[in-house]
Amino acid sequence: MFVDIHDLEMRVRDVYIDGNWQFNSLYTNLPQAIKAKLNSSTISLNPYVNDCYTWKGNLNGIYTARDGYYWLNRNSFSANATSVVSWSWLWHLPAPEKLKFFLWTMLHNSLPTREMLSHRGIINDNLCPRCNIHAETTLHCLRDCNFVKTIWNSIGFSDQDFFQGDDSYNCNIIHHETPTSKLVKWNALGGTGMILNVDGSSSNPGISGFGGLIHNADGAWVHGFFGNLGVTNILHAELMAIYKGLLLAWELNIKDLWCYSDSEMAIKLITEPVDV
Ligand SMILES: [Zn+2]
Repeated sequence: MFVDIHDLEMRVRDVYIDGNWQFNSLYTNLPQAIKAKLNSSTISLNPYVNDCYTWKGNLNGIYTARDGYYWLNRNSFSANATSVVSWSWLWHLPAPEKLKFFLWTMLHNSLPTREMLSHRGIINDNLCPRCNIHAETTLHCLRDCNFVKTIWNSIGFSDQDFFQGDDSYNCNIIHHETPTSKLVKWNALGGTGMILNVDGSSSNPGISGFGGLIHNADGAWVHGFFGNLGVTNILHAELMAIYKGLLLAWELNIKDLWCYSDSEMAIKLITEPVDV
């Protein structure tokens, strides 16, 4: 097609005025087919951008296969919060990597639930293997199955609001503080004292052991210890953990020490009068 030399410097905004094409302002005689195509195109004027083809699939107008995929599936994704919410904050949680990875997978609806596996044609049956009543979706698997509800209830999630709604991304699982949660942490309470963290383990009664760590006030490792107690109970293991930890601290000439144990009974026995 021939373009008149007077039109070479023209921009879209010179011809597209108040929402209409002013083809008469061109020296070039446009074929009817091109006029029809231009009339059916959506025009977006932006004084800061050179004339270019763009598309509305993302904010910068640059096409990528990923954006194309999301645009083609926009209707099915529109109800899914994962397409608009960034979950990257999750990687900053002070939690084990395997838990963060699990949550990440869950929030992107990628857990290999039976619903997901049957949707992908890997298995035929999508029923929950625990209750055999409902499809095993992510939400059913982790929140709604009656077998799972008993676990939530046992750790204090009895609020019915928690079990309502079909959007797992709004049920605040991560931010919900359970009333039974206990925090064991390196904390010299702002001082310069050393910190002793101890723990006992036992199949109660059964093979038991203990271990612990001494850190300085900045959290740097100083010393560690562990031991085997043979067959005994958990309280014995917890008490031995504290005893061995204090013994080690004494040998290291540490006199300013915070001792942390997660055994309420052991702490009670040490700090309160005992009725014998
Ligand atoms: Zn179930």
